[in-house]
Amino acid sequence: MRIGTFVPLDLASSRHELCHKVRVIIMASINRSQDVLDQLSQGISTLATSDEWQAYLKMQARFHNYSYANVLLIMKQYPDATQVAGYGTWKSLGRHVKKGEKAIAIMAPILYKAPNEATETLETENKYRLCGFKIVNVFDVSQTEGKSLTDPCQKLNGGNCHSLYHRLCEFANSLGFHVFQKEMGPELNGNCSHTKKRININKSNSSTQQIKTLIHEIAHAVMHENFDDRALGELEAESVAYVTCESLGIDSSDYSFGYILSWAGNSANAELLIRQSCSRIQKTSSMIIAALSESKDAAA
Ligand SMILES: [Zn+2]
Repeated sequence: MRIGTFVPLDLASSRHELCHKVRVIIMASINRSQDVLDQLSQGISTLATSDEWQAYLKMQARFHNYSYANVLLIMKQYPDATQVAGYGTWKSLGRHVKKGEKAIAIMAPILYKAPNEATETLETENKYRLCGFKIVNVFDVSQTEGKSLTDPCQKLNGGNCHSLYHRLCEFANSLGFHVFQKEMGPELNGNCSHTKKRININKSNSSTQQIKTLIHEIAHAVMHENFDDRALGELEAESVAYVTCESLGIDSSDYSFGYILSWAGNSANAELLIRQSCSRIQKTSSMIIAALSESKDAAA
């Protein structure tokens, strides 16, 4: 934990008092965050039974579940990919690939139908035999434009809190990360690179959405270096964002519930994973809350 980062030298005498105060804040936020995490699981479960979520699942069924090898291939070529499909699938969803976008190459199995006599007694799916692989081109949603997709994540509106954003940037700096505001596609909110020690935030989003995203990316910076499980990483980072936003008086449920549910697959899994990662989520959100309180005190 990097407590003390924002204490100017002339305030060093009150450092002991400040450390005590920060400890009190951490304990209070850990106690409070358990209630907030219960609230998060409850909200996700309510969303999972809504018509809106059912419509989203229907749309999701149009996308493939890619193999582990293909997920690696996609991430290597397009690290920000969130939703990938072939040209034809995008077209059937009323979207087209933007001019100049480079395709993501993945491997697709080549199947042939085995002779009827040999497979008479087998189920239909067993009538096909694998005889190799071919390269297939796919595109991420951010490389396409057109009809809006059903999206259970509503971006947050409004806000005008530059000082909070600035204090979060300072905290990211204390972790060795630089934060940049960048023009990004409407599907992207931000990203975090451990190798470049860089966090990008989509400057087109509202101030509140940018603050939530920055907390999410800081959580990745703290928790997910050399972390292979993308789905769990996203669930943890967004849970940290939700808990931290709540303590800052920002309600991120319109975005966070859908985001976590989409990565967890269903509400039972979301609840289980939140419970399993509970102490990691609490620890990281408490660290951010404490750093923000401390920097606010130092500035006062
Ligand atoms: Zn993320």
